[in-house]
Amino acid sequence: MTSFNFSAIDCRSCGNLVWDGLNSSGMPIKLDMGRLNLKDEIVKLLLGGRTYQIHRTAISFEATPRIGARMKAADPIVLALHQCYPMTVFSEQAPDYWDRQLRQITTSEEVPF
Ligand SMILES: [Zn+2]
Repeated sequence: MTSFNFSAIDCRSCGNLVWDGLNSSGMPIKLDMGRLNLKDEIVKLLLGGRTYQIHRTAISFEATPRIGARMKAADPIVLALHQCYPMTVFSEQAPDYWDRQLRQITTSEEVPF
């Protein structure tokens, strides 16, 4: 059921909530939910991680790899390729980066800046 539109699933390996979909080359990938600022992204890249810029679609979003020349976009929404990590109890709800749905988050939501 994987498509270019990402959907929230539980990672089968680590149990965390992640985005599951296809990258622009049609490869299945998973993305972490937390939005990265430029500094976070640089750290990720230095540690050998991969980052993707996401693009809004009617029902979800699509993702394209962040590579050199494309990193100039203004205010991009950047997510990291998921790397399994110990299961967390918070962020059980998938964020909507464009505020398109009713927000039901009552506890403090982490904003990276
Ligand atoms: Zn995982």
